[in-house]
Amino acid sequence: MTHLSTRRKVLSSANTEALRRRIPVRTEQAVAGPEGRAATLASPFLTFTESGEYFVFDGSSGVMSRIGKLVYDILNLSPIYDIYGEEDLVKLRELLTPKYAEAEIDEAVGAIQDFNRQGFLEHKHKIYELFDEKYESAQNGYFGGCLWLNLSHDCNLRCTYCFGNGGDYGHSRMLMTRETAKACIDYWYAHLNRDQKLFDVAFFGGEPLMNQEVLFFAVEYINQLMSGHSGRVRYNITTNGTILNDKLLRLFKDNDFLVSISIDGIEKIHNRNRPFASGRGSFGRILQNIAELKREFSPLSSQITVRKRDIPFLTPSVEMLWEAGVNRVHSNLVFHEDEIYEYEDFAEYEQQIGRLAAMTFANIMDDKPYTYHGLVRLAGRIHKKKFSDSCFLWQNGAFIFTPEGDAYRCYRYIGNPEYKLGSIQDSGLALLDNRFKKERVSKCSACWAQLYCGDGCAYENEIYTGDPEVPAEAWCAKTKIMLKQSLKFYARMQVECPEKAKQYFNWS
Ligand code: SF4
Ligand code: SF4
Repeated sequence: MTHLSTRRKVLSSANTEALRRRIPVRTEQAVAGPEGRAATLASPFLTFTESGEYFVFDGSSGVMSRIGKLVYDILNLSPIYDIYGEEDLVKLRELLTPKYAEAEIDEAVGAIQDFNRQGFLEHKHKIYELFDEKYESAQNGYFGGCLWLNLSHDCNLRCTYCFGNGGDYGHSRMLMTRETAKACIDYWYAHLNRDQKLFDVAFFGGEPLMNQEVLFFAVEYINQLMSGHSGRVRYNITTNGTILNDKLLRLFKDNDFLVSISIDGIEKIHNRNRPFASGRGSFGRILQNIAELKREFSPLSSQITVRKRDIPFLTPSVEMLWEAGVNRVHSNLVFHEDEIYEYEDFAEYEQQIGRLAAMTFANIMDDKPYTYHGLVRLAGRIHKKKFSDSCFLWQNGAFIFTPEGDAYRCYRYIGNPEYKLGSIQDSGLALLDNRFKKERVSKCSACWAQLYCGDGCAYENEIYTGDPEVPAEAWCAKTKIMLKQSLKFYARMQVECPEKAKQYFNWS
C-alpha cells in the first residue's frame, strides 16, 4: 500500500502563498456548520432557484429536490440558526414571521428534520466507500479498467500550455514500438476481468497519429485477442486533428472509435495557443479534417483548452465549433503553475457556462444536435446518481504505458519518477498490487460538491498546493461552477420540459 503524502512534491512556498492570496475562497450557499452536529443541518447542500422554482441539492446523498420558498429560506438560514436548538428556533421564527405564519414555519422545520432523520442532509462520505470498494477489489486480481497506450512521445504542434512539454514529457522524443505495444497489450489481457461487457482502450500521446503503424497493429491485435469474448472493445483516441487520411478514417469507422479533437475555437485564439512546431497556425488544417471526419462520424466531439485570458471568448469558440459541425464540445481551464486565476476570472467563467447552458437548452428544444457537452454529461450523471469515483490514481482505473513501456496510474504524472509504477520490461511487474490509497480530506467531506468532484484532481492539487491531497481553490471554484450550472440545467429540463428530460437523460 502506498500513501501519497510520502511522495509529495512541494512547490516553493512563495509560489503557493501567492496563489493563496490571489484566489479568493468563494462563499457558497452550501452549508458546513460547526463540528459535532452530525444530526443537525451541519451537512453539505446547495440551494438554488431555476425557472421560478426552488431547489435543494443534498451533497451527501446526491438527491436534488424541488422545495417550497419557506423551506428554501429556512435552509439558507440554517448555518446560522440551528433548527434543533430552542433559542435559535425562537430567533428563526422572529425573522420569518413577517412573511410566514408561525404554524407554517414550525411545519416546515418539522419537514426538514424528518428529511434529515431519513438520512438526507447528513454526512455519509459515500465517495470514500466507492473508492475503498475499488481499492479492495484490486486485491482479488480484478482489473476492470482501461488500457491506455501513449503511442508517441512526439508531437507536430507546440501548444503553449502543454503539460507534456511539447509531447515528450520532458524526455527524449520517441514512438512506441510494435514489440512494446504487444507486451503492454498482453499484460492487460492477462489481468483483464473477462466477464465485463465493455473494455476501454485509449490511444494518447504526444500526438498518437504520429505512430500510425503501431496504432493499426494494436487495434488488429486487440481485436484478434478479444474475438472470442461477448463484450465490446470501446476505442478512443485524443488527437490534435492535424493528421488524417483514408486509411485512418476507415480504421476509426470500422472499429467505432470515439474521436476527440483538441481545438481551441476561434481561429486567432487557436493559432496563438496551438501552433505547429514551425510556428505556423494549425487551425485551417484541423477545420479541413473536421469536415472529413464529419462525413463519416456523428456525433463528433472536440475539446477546447481555455487559457485565463481566453475565458471571455468561450461562448463564441463553442458556437464556432458547432457551426463547423462538431456536435459535442467540451472545455476545460488550463491548470498550470503560471496560470493564476482570480475572482473576476471565475465570475466571467460562470457567466460563460450559464450562457452555454441556455444555448444548449435552446438547441435541445429545437432538436438541434449541438451541445456544450461537459454540462449535459454531468447532468446525465446527476440523473443516474453516477458519482465521481473515477480518478485513475486512487484505483486500478487504468494501465497507462509510455512508449518505453513505463507504467503509470495517471497520464499527467508521466515523467515524474515518484509516480512511475514500473516497466513492462520488469518480469515481476505487479500493477494490481501497486496502488495508491485514497485518504479522507476534511474540507471535501464538508463540501456539497464532493459526490460529483471526488475530492478533486490529485495532479492539479499538487500544482497549486504542493500536495495531491490538499484541494486547490481554483479547482474547487471551477468544479462548483460547472456542477451548479449542470444542476440548474437539469432542473430547468425537469420544470420546463419533463417529457423531453425523461427521454433525453435516458440516453445522454
Ligand atoms: S476538491 Fe473542492 S470542490 Fe471538490 S470536493 Fe473537495 S472541497 Fe469540494
Ligand atoms: S490525478 Fe487528475 S488527471 Fe490524474 S487520473 Fe486523477 S483526476 Fe485524472
